[in-house]
Amino acid sequence: MQNYQMYINGQFVSSVSKKTREILDPASGEKVATVPESNAQDMQLAISAARVAFDKGLWRKTTAADRASFLFKIAQAIRLNAKMLAELEVKNCGKPLSEAEFDVADAAGCFEYYAGLATKIHGETVQVPANFMSMVVREPIGVCAQIIPWNFPLLMAAWKLAPALAAGNVCVLKPSELTPLTALELAKIIHQLELPAGVVNIVTGPGAEAGEELAINTNVDKIAFTGGTLTGKKIATMAANSNLKRVSLELGGKNPNIVFADADFDAAVDGALFGAFANQGEVCSAGSRLLVEESIHDKFVEAMLKKIPNIKLGHGLKTGTKMGPLVSSAHRDKVEAYIQIGISEGAKLVCGGKRPEGEEFKNGNFVEPTIFTNVTPQMRIAREEIFGPVLSVIKFKTEEEAVQIANDTIYGLAAGVWTQNVTRATRVVGQIRAGITWVNHYHPTFNELPWGGYKQSGHGRELGMYGIEEYLETKQININLDTTPIAWY
Ligand code: NAD
Repeated sequence: MQNYQMYINGQFVSSVSKKTREILDPASGEKVATVPESNAQDMQLAISAARVAFDKGLWRKTTAADRASFLFKIAQAIRLNAKMLAELEVKNCGKPLSEAEFDVADAAGCFEYYAGLATKIHGETVQVPANFMSMVVREPIGVCAQIIPWNFPLLMAAWKLAPALAAGNVCVLKPSELTPLTALELAKIIHQLELPAGVVNIVTGPGAEAGEELAINTNVDKIAFTGGTLTGKKIATMAANSNLKRVSLELGGKNPNIVFADADFDAAVDGALFGAFANQGEVCSAGSRLLVEESIHDKFVEAMLKKIPNIKLGHGLKTGTKMGPLVSSAHRDKVEAYIQIGISEGAKLVCGGKRPEGEEFKNGNFVEPTIFTNVTPQMRIAREEIFGPVLSVIKFKTEEEAVQIANDTIYGLAAGVWTQNVTRATRVVGQIRAGITWVNHYHPTFNELPWGGYKQSGHGRELGMYGIEEYLETKQININLDTTPIAWY
């Protein structure tokens, strides 16, 4: 078991209170590590360090090429430590090793993408109706607080740190209290690369105290948050009531995955299962509402049920595991409560709904892949984000009805459409109110494309060129080229 410290002002430190938290392997309940449990006071130290680093220009005054070089080195170090990071991610959040390996490579790719973009940030000159040289320049925002969830710990840290640093900001990152380990390993990488002290601070602690300090502290210029919609609303309120700091929010989803009768049947079956059960369904963009055209509905459900036994449950490090445990016993309780809600609402439980039996599962937070049919759009299991391996299948008759059901949600993060008719695909995607859409696939996520939601799935975008915009201020500069004095009196 390893005892970690957190990273403030270029040093590895304990929390001021000396409190720590035990991190457990969700598949076995074994202790994996301890980490500092910070409170508002620790956050204030980190924010002050970041403020000094920004105000002294320790990072923003470096050249863009130097920042790019740092980011490339971070990516390289992630790749060199990929095995260790992937295994640690599995032990901390439970996902299968193959998915963790993918996340680690993708995190390195994210740093590489923004390393490339660091040297391409530029403004413009503008013709104005006077004798001026007028231009627009882009500047870093300043001290950026970044709060991330537990489902993709290293990847979410990369999505936050890489664009912020490329743009010249300084950062205080708070991982989820449940899954802080790979972010603390990233702190070690950053320390070895000798980034100036205070430029990146990684502070572990609970949302209520440590997280809220980031939202209310007036020395923070921007807060970037990924997590639940209710938490996001609280953060936006705290940000507004303190210093109106900039806010970007990546929140929840209850995403429709729509299968038309003219889809490639086998591909759609696999896409439906992968969309719902990858990462145990603990994915903001999970296709947790499966809308299936009535004429193929029964055959489709039958085909899914035939494939369910292929989704092997187990410890993420065990060969062949396709689905691990849920992140915590409290989260499993929440998912199981939703399964009971589905049953009591009258939906038909066609598979799963319980914990797997057997010695290897007895100390972990496992829940079998669960499918409900006969779900109506009004049911809570069709409306609320369960964030676990629970798929709600809804029948539809017409394209109009499918679009109406798909959009009948407070969320607008992602959607999938399965059809071989390209005209229909384009028409349907065009009507769906969501920021991320796939046709004849589900889940692929690219560092080059903007990630984010419509409606209560948040605002702002991460990744791609759009992601860096969230970390830049825009300034106009007007240089008078006319020497005639101003005649206003
Ligand atoms: P959460 O909102 O409970 O916690 C997210 C983070 O916020 C954690 O670090 C937590 O400590 C912190 N936090 C909690 N309360 C806080 C408060 N009052 N003030 C400041 N910080 C606080 O979410 P979670 O359970 O960790 O993650 C699951 C949620 O995240 C789901 O709703 C999921 O859809 C969403 N999510 C969204 C995206 C996206 O890109 N849109 C990606 C991943 C997860």
